[in-house]
Amino acid sequence: MPSRIVNNREYQIGKILCIGRNYVDHIKELGNEAPSAPVIFMKPASSVIGNGNTVFIPAYSDNCHHEAELALLIGRKAKNVSESEALSYVAGYGVAIDLTLRDVQDELKKKGLPWDIAKGFDTACPLSAFVPAETISDPQELTIRMTVNGELRQNGSSSLMIRSAAQLISYLSGIFTLEPGDVILTGTPAGVSRVIAGDRLCAEIPGAGRVEVSIGHQ
Ligand code: MG
Repeated sequence: MPSRIVNNREYQIGKILCIGRNYVDHIKELGNEAPSAPVIFMKPASSVIGNGNTVFIPAYSDNCHHEAELALLIGRKAKNVSESEALSYVAGYGVAIDLTLRDVQDELKKKGLPWDIAKGFDTACPLSAFVPAETISDPQELTIRMTVNGELRQNGSSSLMIRSAAQLISYLSGIFTLEPGDVILTGTPAGVSRVIAGDRLCAEIPGAGRVEVSIGHQ
């Protein structure tokens, strides 16, 4: 099982709760409507890989997109927590790439079917190391960058989230008990684009984390 260490404590990665459509500029680029409630989906822990690892795009897709996102690592059990106390449940901050099979997702969306095979396949969640939460003074003032082969594709700010990290934790904790090792991916800013075999991907949040992976040939 994948794990991450923060402040000398090892966290086995649990459920990975992902937020869709949390940045207005990204909603526009995909032609989606702004949701009245957060769009939530999950990735399994088995989709997690780490720095230096290789992504394998499944054969059933011909259009895999990168989505760089601020990742929150939950440090203690949270159920029905208020927005004001929500950030105290975060053990660490990092960065993830929410790899998305856009063609597969679009087909499933049209049919009203779940997205799991577009979002949860093996290697679909490159995840950085986490910095201790106390080193981040404000998670809504972070820069999120994504480069592909050294070219800048995403350059956003967590200040542009529709729902903040604290709001998301509070909301999610009313639906799912959050447990130590659970991860929340908070949505991606604009600039998503296709990646192909041979590409080198790097997602970075200065001060919080960096994860670099390559796309492998099947
Ligand atoms: Mg995403």
